[in-house]
Amino acid sequence: MNISHRKRTLEGPFYSYPYQKNVAMNGMSDPQAVLKAKDEQIQALKAQLVAKEEEIVQLRSQLDKFQSVLPNALIQPRKVRAQGISAEPQTAKNIKDYVANVKLQTHKKTNSSKELIKRAIMDNDFMKNLEVSQIHDIVECMHPVEFTRGSMIIKEGDVGSLVYVMEEGKVEVTKANTKLCTMGPEKVFGELAILYNCTRTASIKALTACKLWAIDRPSFQSIMMRSGLLRQIEYKEFLKSVPSFKNLPEETISKIADVLEETHYNNGECIIRQGARGDTFFIISKGKVKVTKRTSKGTEDQSIRYLQRGEFFGEKALQGEDIRTANVTADDPEGVDCLVLDRESYTQLISNIDDLQRTYEDEEVVNNVEAEFAKLKLGDLSIVTTLGVGGFGRVELVQINNDTSRTFALKIMRKHHIVETRQQEHIMNEKKIMAEARSEFIVKLHRTFKDRKYLYMMMEVCLGGELWTVLRDKGSFDDTTTRFYTGCVLEAYTYLHSKGIVYRDLKPENLLLDANGYCKLVDFGFAKKVGLGRKTWTFCGTPEYVAPEVILNKGHDITADYWSLGILMFELLTGSPPFSGQDPMKTYNLILKGIDTIEFPRKITKNANNLIKKLCRDIPTERLGFGRGGIREIQKHKWFEGFNWEGLKKRTMTAPITPKIKNTSDTSNFDDYPDDEETAPPDDLSGWDRDF
Ligand code: AMP
Repeated sequence: MNISHRKRTLEGPFYSYPYQKNVAMNGMSDPQAVLKAKDEQIQALKAQLVAKEEEIVQLRSQLDKFQSVLPNALIQPRKVRAQGISAEPQTAKNIKDYVANVKLQTHKKTNSSKELIKRAIMDNDFMKNLEVSQIHDIVECMHPVEFTRGSMIIKEGDVGSLVYVMEEGKVEVTKANTKLCTMGPEKVFGELAILYNCTRTASIKALTACKLWAIDRPSFQSIMMRSGLLRQIEYKEFLKSVPSFKNLPEETISKIADVLEETHYNNGECIIRQGARGDTFFIISKGKVKVTKRTSKGTEDQSIRYLQRGEFFGEKALQGEDIRTANVTADDPEGVDCLVLDRESYTQLISNIDDLQRTYEDEEVVNNVEAEFAKLKLGDLSIVTTLGVGGFGRVELVQINNDTSRTFALKIMRKHHIVETRQQEHIMNEKKIMAEARSEFIVKLHRTFKDRKYLYMMMEVCLGGELWTVLRDKGSFDDTTTRFYTGCVLEAYTYLHSKGIVYRDLKPENLLLDANGYCKLVDFGFAKKVGLGRKTWTFCGTPEYVAPEVILNKGHDITADYWSLGILMFELLTGSPPFSGQDPMKTYNLILKGIDTIEFPRKITKNANNLIKKLCRDIPTERLGFGRGGIREIQKHKWFEGFNWEGLKKRTMTAPITPKIKNTSDTSNFDDYPDDEETAPPDDLSGWDRDF
């Protein structure tokens, strides 16, 4: 304490309670009284300390709440490029394994422990979004772990794969050596690690002996995937057994399976009534129903037959005959579950097949070499400068034999790093999809090379730079500018989706401007050919852009790309994406709360607002683009009214921003990157990249 401070404390009008006591005590001579007063003083200080600690905890939770509802307009635009994240891919083989073979290991626990875990899950912003059956499985599968006082449960920076629920004890949370808070029982922690391989963002230390329950990522993911996958398989089997459906293509069956809704009826409840109008079709998934019919007026209903699991009724309603010709009543003590489809969804999906825009031929690509570059050797290329730095290495601007008339982008990836992060399959997808892609809205891959340490992709170069940089410099775009770039993305999507390829990493960083100002998709590291109407399961993308079904591991398809298109529109129009927390987990929790919790800044026009909300529906089958019109549904939206789609496709339209490019080596539209000073990575001759 310095002198002036002490003076003010003792003499000024602001002195605090303990000092007042102190002053009074100085005049006392009775040692007992002094001791008593000292004691009181200590108690008062202690009480103040406890109150302050509580205040801090409250303020912190208020801050969290405030941040989660903070209107987007107040969030600062992104100043750093977002990094994509990905779990190790789930291959078709191991998905089947998950469904067929994974026997989830359960662990015995008392009912009170089960209840405690359930309460903790329901209190957690992320976990509370899981389905009741998933929560049940997680509770059953959690295993006990104990930590002694003082031990580290989670260490910041470590790679983690366990999520914990605390049953007994007290822990302290710290980040960069700063204490954040303490936590008691009934709390979930470490939940980001169950979504994908990641480093812990804070440390958690046991302040007392702690009893915890834990579950690892593979078990968690198999629980999450099982319910969605099993349901889809079961629904598809049902549909294939219905005469009206069995000749439909797999893609349509999958889509119908996606929109089926499960409804429960109590015993005795009337499901459809003779003579009434109806436009719904039912498949029984559990229980038994009774079909009755009244033949003439005034007579009793006659029982015709019973239907059970796998059987269906109300099919005629789908063809337009909407007067019910019989009664159907639930006739099962445990009630009846039906899968329900309405005529609107049915007709929306059924004529899909002939209608689908298949403007692109399935070209057979004879390996990856374009004839012009077939004889080219890696040694013929010379680096001019660096264009960008990605997750696996650098992208360099290169020339062939020092010919300054043409330049290319060469993406150089460290094999060792790819293997370490188990991204081999993603890289092979990237190469294959880019090599096959024939669209003006996708960066062309001319040639690939490989050596002991690196993989190389020689691509068309886009010297206009990233759309991200333009957005950062301009702050935000108007409607017309945003419409143009969104239109370019839709052209790229039309091509990819017609081939059953999902892109999965849309963001301004992955859109490059060519010399005319048209944007092209680049970085196909997360793109995947899933097939028409099929789903995939790997968690990947960029936190701010991932769709809710990806976070919840429900299986996703091309409709995840529609979600991210809505996010892109929002970011281009405002300068920042709608869902953005301080860390990925906070971002995911905001995404799970849905687009309706977001306050749209006024600069987003009514039509743009409407389109964004139609793209960012929580339920993928409700997103614009899912129906039979596919992407054309999006192109026909009011926001695009009058947009020159033909001009865009033929590239005769003038782009809103034409980049300044002086010559083939002008990289002024890119940020500067320091020279590569990393030591050379180890060799990798294991051969996984044979087909690269
Ligand atoms: P990537 O690892 O593919 O995400 O690439 C990292 C960065 O390198 C991109 O964000 C761009 O800035 C730059 N880049 C990649 N490919 C090209 C290209 N074909 N033309 C120009 N710049 C590129």
